[in-house]
Amino acid sequence: MIVCKFGGTSVASAEQIQKVANIVKSNPARKIVAVSAPGKRSGDDIKVTDLLINLAMAALKNEEIEEELQIVVNRFMAIADGLELDHTICDVIAEDLHERVQGDKSNKELFIDSIKAAGEDNNAKLIAAYFNSIGMPARYVSPKDGLVVNDLPERTYALPEAYANLAPLKSTKEIIVFPGFFGYTKAGILRTFDRGGSDITGSILAAAVEAELYENFTDVDCVFSANPKVVNDPVEIKEITYREMRELSYAGFSVFHDEALMPVYKIGVPVNIKNTNNPSAPGTRIVPRRSVTGRPVTGISADSGFSTLYVSKYLMNREVGFGRKLLQILEDENISYEHTPSGLDDISVIMRSNQITLENEERILSRVKNELNADDVQMRHGFSMIVIVGEGMRNNTGLAARAATAISKTGANIEMINQGSSEVSLVFGVLQEYENQILQALYEEFFAHARV
Ligand code: ASP
Repeated sequence: MIVCKFGGTSVASAEQIQKVANIVKSNPARKIVAVSAPGKRSGDDIKVTDLLINLAMAALKNEEIEEELQIVVNRFMAIADGLELDHTICDVIAEDLHERVQGDKSNKELFIDSIKAAGEDNNAKLIAAYFNSIGMPARYVSPKDGLVVNDLPERTYALPEAYANLAPLKSTKEIIVFPGFFGYTKAGILRTFDRGGSDITGSILAAAVEAELYENFTDVDCVFSANPKVVNDPVEIKEITYREMRELSYAGFSVFHDEALMPVYKIGVPVNIKNTNNPSAPGTRIVPRRSVTGRPVTGISADSGFSTLYVSKYLMNREVGFGRKLLQILEDENISYEHTPSGLDDISVIMRSNQITLENEERILSRVKNELNADDVQMRHGFSMIVIVGEGMRNNTGLAARAATAISKTGANIEMINQGSSEVSLVFGVLQEYENQILQALYEEFFAHARV
């Protein structure tokens, strides 16, 4: 059995959904289909999920919402018309949206989640109706039937029992159409995953039914070895391990959600990233293991928006518990960190800047100074992390030297270097303004010149 997931652009219009039907029909093993909400039909279009967020915000402010609600209904109506479905499905969608906006607003986040999820939920109903209308027996299944998730305040994830609950879908006769992006808590409260979270739903389903393959259909032929918006014509990645993909999607490879690897990784279900608009292209396969031949580096990613907390204190290395106390201060502010490069008497904690506000920055600085008696403490913003990834890096000497030389040619200073113990990645922290230049220089070094 194959589980496939179709992303926003793959289900954005009637024409796209017809392509989805053809893809599903062409292989009888494709029995479970997870779908996103309709995404952008062109560059300047708005995703239904974003329209729904606007609607939720307006409802929270008790503003007039009828117009916003109608815009969403019209998007579905245009799709239904293009697929020659009668309008009963649109009435169902309009009624569903009215019901949702009337819902409990006492918790803002949960209210927004319930509206946001309407894009996927209604699209799944519509797509199931369309499949049936063209003679492909299909059934909409709600995440209510088994996709249980945790409670607030932690970010949403599937509870272990979700897998057992969903496992019976394995024996389905019809095609299951399952909405991506959300689940329900044990108390029956809807919660969405992070943005792009339909990838996670597909992965949970693939793991639950122990699929032979998880196909993730998007709008590009494959994963590229570097961002094609920055690097001209980058090499296509044909095969990549879970670990490599995890490292790359951490820093900017947005083709596949980084959290989506976990469920399939545990069971060892391979993933194939494919293009709805060009389904015969082989795509990129994400596999548990691969033999490393040729280039040691598989991909280079870069992401901006990092801050560093620099702390120095004489004899820090002798002080038992210093690191724990420092990280405790961040935990108290609910901040997660990414790297902690350290020296004898100093340590930097690198974190995503979007977690830092003027207020918590001030609190952190004063607590580190006063409670840890640090000699110096500074918070700096505006960093990028550049990550070089490859299973072949472990057995290759001189890679760090080559990377550092390539970076030095751009004139940028390397603020931080971190090599994970698994040695499949090498991370460089640099000032944000050098990010693109460095990415190009590293790509030149490791890919353009075929030197291995
Ligand atoms: N529709 C959601 C989003 O735009 C989830 C998804 O498409 O994966 O983030």
